[in-house]
Amino acid sequence: MRHQSFLFLIFILLVFSVRVEAQDYTIVIKGGHLIDSKNNINELMDVAIKDDKIVLVAKNIDARQAQVINATGLYVTPGLIDIHSHNFFGTQEDHYLGDGFEALPPDGFTFRTGVTTVVDAGGAGWKTFTKFKSQTIAHSKTRVLSFLNIVGEGMRGGNYEQNLNDMDAKMTAMTVRQHKEIVGVKVAHYMGKEWDPVDRAVEAGKIANVPVIVDFGGSVPPLSIEELFMKHLRPGDIFTHAFAELGSRMPIVDKEGKLLPFVPAAQKRGIIFDVGHGGGSFRFTQAIPALKAGFIPNTISTDFHTGSMNAGMKDQLNVMSKFLNMGMNVQQVIAASTWHPAQVIHREELGNLSVGAGADVAVFSLHKGKFGFIDSAGFRMDGDQKLECELTLRDGKVVYDLNGISRPAWNKP
Ligand SMILES: [Zn+2]
Repeated sequence: MRHQSFLFLIFILLVFSVRVEAQDYTIVIKGGHLIDSKNNINELMDVAIKDDKIVLVAKNIDARQAQVINATGLYVTPGLIDIHSHNFFGTQEDHYLGDGFEALPPDGFTFRTGVTTVVDAGGAGWKTFTKFKSQTIAHSKTRVLSFLNIVGEGMRGGNYEQNLNDMDAKMTAMTVRQHKEIVGVKVAHYMGKEWDPVDRAVEAGKIANVPVIVDFGGSVPPLSIEELFMKHLRPGDIFTHAFAELGSRMPIVDKEGKLLPFVPAAQKRGIIFDVGHGGGSFRFTQAIPALKAGFIPNTISTDFHTGSMNAGMKDQLNVMSKFLNMGMNVQQVIAASTWHPAQVIHREELGNLSVGAGADVAVFSLHKGKFGFIDSAGFRMDGDQKLECELTLRDGKVVYDLNGISRPAWNKP
């Protein structure tokens, strides 16, 4: 009997080793500095991919027949997640933001900056979501998710967003539950003195078990952000435009440059502070003192539209580079753009390179030199480091390659 079970063990080991031998990779990224916050990896490590999955993360992987991508001197990270993007602004004739600002098709700006997942922040409401889904989500190579606007008509601007009668928690929650692409509920641009938009969004969030993201302010005098953080939002809810300074919204740093004491307390309570840079929502006068006081944002995001991309925001990597130059380290800005947002939107299968995870991967260079960064008030901050995207993989396929590191040289077939 003992002899038999010993033989059986040998048999199992043989089968197992044959299986491992037979595992061919499609791509092996070699020699890069891997940052995977979920798995606490911050060192030189190879990554093996088979088809659309990560199958091995280890030192000196034997690539065998696989395509090898040499990432020596580069950072290798999970594909970035931008949780504040704009890819749907309702109807063309009733465009939000006036001034010619437009929402953008995601594939036009994501892969070139290492972003593989975007979350549209409230473009669609429960009445317009299916249009957004058929128009954009279904046709994008980028993974497009959505925070559903508490306003049924979505972000159509003007009176639409001030209409309390069109903020229905139940219909919103029901729509969230029907579509796996919806990861939360958005509140934005309300100018009244009532708390109803926030409270109804939170109610919808409770029913559907998803977070709420708040673009707060608009009433004069402004409502209290302390009350928002401590009384209205739940732990896990998101405050976007964290470093904005607008007359109609209380900032997190006061006129003397002091971080308001309830802000770190709110973060400790579980409120998520998101950058949401945008065209008008990021000031160095807010961010620099806040970071000096030891406060760092949970998530870094763009608030992407034609207005912000051609102003100080530019793209996800430029925003991350700003935070690098303000004192966050590479690991922190990567975590705030990968694993942290994945957890915030309850999509923990994203933002990491665990074995079995989808092969969304970004490869970056970190340049040293003289750089300048602009905020929403038009002021410049000088810096000496800047991230640039070298390569992006989506589902195991190369979708962007700046310097051809995945391609053979033309004269060496
Ligand atoms: Zn926005």
